[in-house]
Amino acid sequence: MKTGLITSDTYQNHNTGKGHPEKVDRVSVILENFKKLNNKNLIWKKPSKVENQILEITHSSNYIKFVQNSFPKKGLSFLDGDTIVSPGSKDAAVDAVGSIITAIDGVQNKEFKNAFCAVRPPGHHAEKNKAMGFCIYNNIAVGTNYLLKKYNYKKVAIIDFDVHHGNGTQDIFYDNEKVLYISTHQYPYYPGTGTEQEKGKYNNIFNIPLPAGTTSEEYLSAYEFVLKKLKEFKPEFILFSAGFDAHKDDPLAQFQLKSKDFYDLTKRTLGLAKVFSEGKVVSILEGGYDLSALQESTEMHVRALIEFN
Ligand SMILES: [Zn+2]
Repeated sequence: MKTGLITSDTYQNHNTGKGHPEKVDRVSVILENFKKLNNKNLIWKKPSKVENQILEITHSSNYIKFVQNSFPKKGLSFLDGDTIVSPGSKDAAVDAVGSIITAIDGVQNKEFKNAFCAVRPPGHHAEKNKAMGFCIYNNIAVGTNYLLKKYNYKKVAIIDFDVHHGNGTQDIFYDNEKVLYISTHQYPYYPGTGTEQEKGKYNNIFNIPLPAGTTSEEYLSAYEFVLKKLKEFKPEFILFSAGFDAHKDDPLAQFQLKSKDFYDLTKRTLGLAKVFSEGKVVSILEGGYDLSALQESTEMHVRALIEFN
């Protein structure tokens, strides 16, 4: 079976203003590279349209209303200090959520074995009632709740290897024993959360804070704890919050990972997915702000997804 690549053109109209790191080119360079590689094992697919009821499993209806009324008719407006939206952000935000829904349905229907969603805006900082850190809707949280509600899964694991802590995802699943949230991140750092003491109501949150300057070897060694937790939890479905800003060239953080490390961590995780979740894995783009590092790292990550069988 093949790997799904879910994306839509609407990300191009999510304008965050001049000089903003979360820019259109991020997804453009990823897609250009996949077009060039022309891998026949990649199935390109557009997201389905999501209705409010899918968002409402994760975000409050007041928050959804607030977001839907905040897209300007022209120009830009601010949802928080660094979360900026333009008229086109409305469709981009909905398509980012729609992508993970389409990816999950595709894996469930055996249209493809696993999938990567190349989307923006990212999602893992968005809380139930709050936009934050370039994120509007929490795409991966909506996907997780969709797995629980629509497909009745009892154990879903989210692995967040973005260099920032996914405070939003942690917030949404803090008291949900069906969800294991594991995050590796630079600490202390934005957004300030992500200590080892934040464990969730059911010990279902597992934070691995690492210092600035963390090398590939140090990171991959810490990643062994991620794998250990996964083995204990035995997830029926695995989701990746795939941020690539832990790369050594990334301008927003100070980890020292190389592009190849994203291949290794993906490969190791897929080994466990094979044992526990019949290989069911969906990954969605979060951060990553150096364009060539992002292009190379997503290629590595997706290569591991494609090779898995
Ligand atoms: Zn990040």
